[in-house]
Amino acid sequence: MTTPRETAIDARRRVVSLADRWPLLGQPGPLVLYVCGTVGLAVGAAAHLARTTEFRWAELLTFLALMACGAVCIEATRRLGMPAGVSRDLLSAWWLPVALLLPPVYALLAPLPLQFLLQIRVRATVLYRRVFSAAAIGLAAVVASLCFHGLAREPMSGHVGAGPLFLAVACAVLFTVLNTALIAVAAVMSDPDTRWHDVLWDRERALLDVVELCLGVLVALACGISPLLLVLTLPPVVLLQRSLLHAQLQAAARTDPKTGLLNATAWQREADTEIIRARRTGETLALLIVDIDHFKRVNDTYGHLVGDQVLAGIATAVRSQLRDYDVVGRFGGEEFVVLLPRADVAEARRVAERLRTRVGRMAIPVEEALITVTISVGVAIMSVHGDDLIELLAAADLALYRAKELGRDRICLPVAPVPPQRAQGDNSEGRIP
Ligand code: GH3
Ligand code: MG
Ligand code: MG
Repeated sequence: MTTPRETAIDARRRVVSLADRWPLLGQPGPLVLYVCGTVGLAVGAAAHLARTTEFRWAELLTFLALMACGAVCIEATRRLGMPAGVSRDLLSAWWLPVALLLPPVYALLAPLPLQFLLQIRVRATVLYRRVFSAAAIGLAAVVASLCFHGLAREPMSGHVGAGPLFLAVACAVLFTVLNTALIAVAAVMSDPDTRWHDVLWDRERALLDVVELCLGVLVALACGISPLLLVLTLPPVVLLQRSLLHAQLQAAARTDPKTGLLNATAWQREADTEIIRARRTGETLALLIVDIDHFKRVNDTYGHLVGDQVLAGIATAVRSQLRDYDVVGRFGGEEFVVLLPRADVAEARRVAERLRTRVGRMAIPVEEALITVTISVGVAIMSVHGDDLIELLAAADLALYRAKELGRDRICLPVAPVPPQRAQGDNSEGRIP
């Protein structure tokens, strides 16, 4: 006979294995609802539009030609690989013409074959994310398509006037805005520490959006003249896609995959540049080493995978408390390094204290537990505790060591240089109690 405790454990195991097989079930409730709602809406809209659309061979062939171009693009860049995490492509160059040239139902169908190809040929990612991406792109494209076909007096063609052309650009912008918003909501729901600003606005991403938009409208114009012209549009799009992937792979090589922060090598390079600049301009600068207290206990209690989640959560929290131009990286293990350009002692203490308080108040939900941790921070100031990166790192490391010795969960500066006439061993200066 099984005891109630064994039954509870069995039930928990069943949930865990279900969540293993269906990772969506392991996500926060609102995210599950949002993802299911978006996919359901896309499927419902596709079913409704399919019933009310009269299929024509010419349109079907144009659709297949555009999808074939997208497939060639994917195959031509496949060998370069794909950076981990969120990556960008130029597939809107094919989705936008579908939305502008063909009946709206095609806009909903277009992401399916290309997302499927990405999944089996490029990177097999968690299935619900792939399905959600297809639904989000499809919904954004169908809204743009409905607006264009509802408002344009003439169909998109090579001889289109200024009015419809302007409308096509406006609908392409609408597509980009809607797609970004749909994805941003999911990103914030899956990680409440994510800042809206980060998911909605990024200069590089905005630039890419503009490129995609221009490509999409140009390909639509060419295809409007004759689908045969797609043969001429394909090589430049493939080339752009390859150089874009190249840039993303380069960026990925600078990033620590577990936390998304700079890795140690990239951080040192950027920190060195900042220090040289500060020396030239005479500006102040501070360096912090942040170390999670008793992190080994988290691993020992909950396992390494949970430890990794805590690490990522703290990295996001630390990043969220800093300015855009502060240089933050993972130095190794459970240690982070932060360079604060233009920060003096007071500012460095303020920032370090903000980080300590923020992390200390965090309760990271993992499995059925809420994990809390604290951090200790060693602070070093340029020209006071060192003149180059090595000296500053050594000084901050010593300060961190003091913070640990004094009981952790605190901020310390290095022991101030002791004037020769003063008594030895006065190490109380510079410590924040
Ligand atoms: P202290 O307060 O003195 O810093 O104690 P601590 O336990 O944080 O420090 P210690 O140096 O004893 O242990 C660091 C731990 O960090 C041990 C190691 O397993 C863990 N760790 C390092 N890198 C990773 C990682 O990438 N993922 C996980 N989960 N744990 C890591
Ligand atoms: Mg530690
Ligand atoms: Mg450590």
